[in-house]
Amino acid sequence: MNDNVFSLIKSHTSTDINNGKIKSVGHVYLVGAGPGDEELITVKAMRLLQEADVIVYDRLANPALLSYGKPHCDLIYVGKKKDQHSLPLEKICDLLAALAGCGKNVVRLKGGDSFIFGRGGEETDYLRRQGIQCLVVPGITAASGCAAATQIPLTHRDYAHAVVFITGHRQNGKMTINWDLALQKDCTVVFYMGLSNLEEITRQLIERGCPTDKPFAVVSQGTSSEQQVVLGTISDIAQRLMHRPLLSPELLMMGDVIHANGYALGLANQTAAEYRGVNQ
Ligand code: SAH
Repeated sequence: MNDNVFSLIKSHTSTDINNGKIKSVGHVYLVGAGPGDEELITVKAMRLLQEADVIVYDRLANPALLSYGKPHCDLIYVGKKKDQHSLPLEKICDLLAALAGCGKNVVRLKGGDSFIFGRGGEETDYLRRQGIQCLVVPGITAASGCAAATQIPLTHRDYAHAVVFITGHRQNGKMTINWDLALQKDCTVVFYMGLSNLEEITRQLIERGCPTDKPFAVVSQGTSSEQQVVLGTISDIAQRLMHRPLLSPELLMMGDVIHANGYALGLANQTAAEYRGVNQ
């Protein structure tokens, strides 16, 4: 982190905290950066980036967006570093609160949409309790971005009447998936953060009665120029990916909509051909 920012926070926190609340003079804008493709950010988000004094950003926000900041804009990375956890949420919020308390206009830039598995609700809550003015700018979430980029129509009315977003991440080592929700009829299911548990997710769904030929797609680095698509069924997708390293982030999609048109299949064939080319 830039020394300048450090000293600002230090001087601020020692003098400006009033009854446990920081008097907010600057603002925090919680901005969704959209998925991989930098051009998928909103016009409003772009304006805020251009006006920001500080941009506090995560691993999933496309770093190319940082170049839109003002020449002296401070850039602070708070995402995961190699082999380390990301900064705890309270620490990030304290940083945001301190910067806003110094009168800075702060953009907190997050991948996709901050309110979809992005802990945006926790950050806004924390900041409000500190007396910090916080505004939220929506972003395109990975499910919408990946669906558009692969032309998988999540709610094509011939196949799905609902779409659910589920986290496939374990909490304290435990799966938190609501299996009944994932097994609803006429529903498309999108799993965020699910790749490392793919084998278990698909096995448990089959054990609970999911048809073994249910179409399944994995989209890696969706919407970016590095996007890769792997298709299969719930029975074979884990196997297909076993010897097939994909670069993160990856999104899992399950449902009959995957074959509503041939576009995703064309992308998957292209991905497979490129993979064979590299590995011959
Ligand atoms: N707030 C983000 C999601 C954060 S959770 C959003 O709205 O998109 C992180 C998970 O999002 C990743 O593990 C992955 O499952 C998914 N994800 C985010 N960007 C992605 C992308 N470009 N391609 C595929 N999956 C993505």
